[in-house]
Amino acid sequence: MWNERIEKCPKCQKNDQVIPIMFGFPGPEMIEAEQRGEIKLGGCCITPGMDPEFHCKRCDYDFPDFDSQFDQIGSDEEETAGYRAPGEE
Ligand SMILES: [Zn+2]
Repeated sequence: MWNERIEKCPKCQKNDQVIPIMFGFPGPEMIEAEQRGEIKLGGCCITPGMDPEFHCKRCDYDFPDFDSQFDQIGSDEEETAGYRAPGEE
């Protein structure tokens, strides 16, 4: 349930040992998932644009979500030009 969109590690080019890094105050589910090695808890201090979002257990390497960074650049104009929520008339 935690690995819906997992990036490949830039070092080993694999994602089988990559887990998401979750920020914010962790609930019991997240703490259990971390104990199982399914996610990594990143703490509650968020620096926009700076935080790694994935962790490769093989390389012990943190890296950001490259796809979402590209998305943010691409969708910037559309959102300011009148975004409508789906289903809204
Ligand atoms: Zn790796």
